[in-house]
Amino acid sequence: MEIPTLSKYSLSFAFLCLLFLVFGLWNVKTEETYAPKPLHVLCYHDITPNSSFKYSRTTEKLKYDFQLLRDSGFKVVPLEKIIEAGQKKVPLALREAALTFDDATTGQYQYARPLLKSFGYPATFYAPTALVESGEPAAKEYSGTMAWADIQKLAEEGFYIASHGHSHKDLSRLSPGDLKEEIQKSLSLLRKRTGMNVLDFCLPYGLYKREQEEHFLEAGIRSMALTTTDHGPGIPALVKIRRFEVLADTGAEEILEALGWENKEKRP
Ligand SMILES: [Zn+2]
Repeated sequence: MEIPTLSKYSLSFAFLCLLFLVFGLWNVKTEETYAPKPLHVLCYHDITPNSSFKYSRTTEKLKYDFQLLRDSGFKVVPLEKIIEAGQKKVPLALREAALTFDDATTGQYQYARPLLKSFGYPATFYAPTALVESGEPAAKEYSGTMAWADIQKLAEEGFYIASHGHSHKDLSRLSPGDLKEEIQKSLSLLRKRTGMNVLDFCLPYGLYKREQEEHFLEAGIRSMALTTTDHGPGIPALVKIRRFEVLADTGAEEILEALGWENKEKRP
């Protein structure tokens, strides 16, 4: 009776392997490879005339990106449109894209703002409020941090200012209480200074934990802008804004590809 015993063990072993495989695949699918395409939102950091820093795009390249979007038939829409589509679960048109700028750097004010205005493009600036208060930059290589007067000017000009946390901390390490405080301090400062009803949030360093989603909702957040971490769809009431990060060396082709530009004819 040795053979049947062995088979029983082999079967159990095979079953366990299958279980691990299924669980593993499910995990990978929801956490690491969850990447709906095309994306509709670009994420920029600092903008400077000359810089070798990974998170600083040159003014010249930004101008080229903007022209490329126009020449490729893209309509640059306000972030609000992307959020509404997320809330109603309706797909966006293929060539609709929104522009976002993280960290409220002085370079964005000095160099991106005039370009946005000359192209007539709407944009969202995600500001870390404690850094705006202190003037400290989110990265030491940055051109600096905007003052409230700059943020107010952007708001007056019709740009949307949303939250990038208060002190630009890694939120995935915070307790629920500290997380809520971090979000609420930032929202109330932004509302007080800009008069805008700010409901949208961008994760510092793109980090969060799946179980924190409900705390974001409780703190009054409507949408969460992602870059690195993506735990999949999560709670439906909290809209996830998936973005393509445009870094110093990102090629124009990569931007078009991320935005689903599929025309195989000669690209502009
Ligand atoms: Zn940031």
